[in-house]
Amino acid sequence: METPGQTEGDRRQDAADTSTGYDRSHAVEDYLKAIRHLQQESVPVSTSSLAQHLDRSPASITNMIKSLAERGLVEHEPYHGVRLSEAGEREALRIIRRHRVIEAYLIEMLDYSWDLVHAEAERLEHAASDELVERMASALGHPEMDPHGSPIPTPDGELADNLHPALSEVESGASVIVREVSDADEERLRYLAELGLYPGTRVEVVDREPFEGPIRVRVAGQERSLGRRLAEIVRVEQEDVEHSGDGGEDPSADN
Ligand SMILES: [Zn+2]
Repeated sequence: METPGQTEGDRRQDAADTSTGYDRSHAVEDYLKAIRHLQQESVPVSTSSLAQHLDRSPASITNMIKSLAERGLVEHEPYHGVRLSEAGEREALRIIRRHRVIEAYLIEMLDYSWDLVHAEAERLEHAASDELVERMASALGHPEMDPHGSPIPTPDGELADNLHPALSEVESGASVIVREVSDADEERLRYLAELGLYPGTRVEVVDREPFEGPIRVRVAGQERSLGRRLAEIVRVEQEDVEHSGDGGEDPSADN
């Protein structure tokens, strides 16, 4: 039966709720992660941006926010939106740790390719016990980064702050190191792998076309063209900070 105003996500959720495998704590965890993610853009997080991000109707968002607020996981400001409470932040970081440890484990130990681990981790992060996740971390030697270059929160909920600019924002002529790529889009990750754009890879920005046009980069001696949307999900660190004087000569500048 269809209820007016329901989104596709609502219907999937209803179907899952009535079958096995999906419970309310799973949904709570997804909401906390989503709020934390959106807080990086602006705080508080509006109900509408949350609805869009989770593909849920405003009505179901409102219900869940009420229940999260009752549990002390979020603070709700009517007409403005929602922000994580300290307890909510702790819980969100716990899920993020699980997700990133699982991704690292799947790649390191089970030979998954990096485009496939996110979907697996999205499922397993809700099911794995803390014990299992800590054993995975220990088997990996307690990694600080996941395979996409995202920092893994410590068991105490410390998260390294590494906000790097997007490749799409870098000036032409700059030489940068890839630090982090967004893990959510399998197709784009496969393409980035084809280009060799992994964390740690050095990239020279050759040229930027104006008006949101593509960016030409040099990776391992080969010139490639990247669409702006793709360049937006690649976070980079500037390699050579420009010298303030004019003495900074780059021996490789003229080829
Ligand atoms: Zn992921």
